[in-house]
Amino acid sequence: MAWFKRQSGELDTSGEKKVRTEGLWVKCDECRQIIWKKDLEENLNVCPKCDRHFRIDARTRLRQLLDGDRYQAFDGNLASTDPLHFVDLKAYSSRLKQAQHDSGLKDAVINAEGKLNDRSVIVSAMEYSFIGGSMGAVVGEAITRAIERATDRRLPIIIVSASGGARMMEGVISLMQLAKISASLARLDDAKVPYISVLTDPTTGGVTASFAMLGDLNIAEPGALIGFAGPRVIEQTIRQKLPHGFQRAEFLLEHGMLDAVVPRKQLKAYIGRALDFMVPANGTKRA
Ligand SMILES: [Zn+2]
Repeated sequence: MAWFKRQSGELDTSGEKKVRTEGLWVKCDECRQIIWKKDLEENLNVCPKCDRHFRIDARTRLRQLLDGDRYQAFDGNLASTDPLHFVDLKAYSSRLKQAQHDSGLKDAVINAEGKLNDRSVIVSAMEYSFIGGSMGAVVGEAITRAIERATDRRLPIIIVSASGGARMMEGVISLMQLAKISASLARLDDAKVPYISVLTDPTTGGVTASFAMLGDLNIAEPGALIGFAGPRVIEQTIRQKLPHGFQRAEFLLEHGMLDAVVPRKQLKAYIGRALDFMVPANGTKRA
């Protein structure tokens, strides 16, 4: 009797519905709430409960800033040659290979041209997930090229920083980028083409020490960590406890190091308005 005796020992699970839950939810480190990832993305990766600004990658940044999610990327073929053949826990060359594989980028920045509220602009967006957004020869050269392009074409430039600073695996070659980029920004200034620096979480070290703080306007996202040396190093040097919120965007604004702290949702409109003010009809920057 078939209903009395199990005929097959195997349980047929082929029709079983699989529910994928992994990666659908994110925990906010600030308010500890669990957020549906889609809700977070729709809110420009800002926590809907506490307004914490999550880090976003360079491509998402460009889509958020430029009209119609459209932009033309350039200088994407530059790649580091590992000039010092540097090895720490791992060979720098294999770190590079891994980062290139994971990000689909050659290095930690995307240069793009697109429209921001109908105005053509150049944007350099740094990619933090690529070796901490660190600045080696390639990032330095790419940003310099973006600035030179902006100078030649008289287009405003926006650089969105997200970086741990200079790339130690390229030693002094990395440090030279600070001077190179700063020099190209001086020429941009001579040409009276505006530069808006957007500092996002985190912007530290050599990037803060050069172009991130050299904008005609230096604006940051709420809560962004911005500094040169880390808090522990400073505490050990000055032998004092640092105040609460030290090196956060709001603290820097209060102490005159930034021009504004702008929530991500208002960032595009804010930059658009600033450019309207900075670039009158004849296309050059107001003195
Ligand atoms: Zn939150």
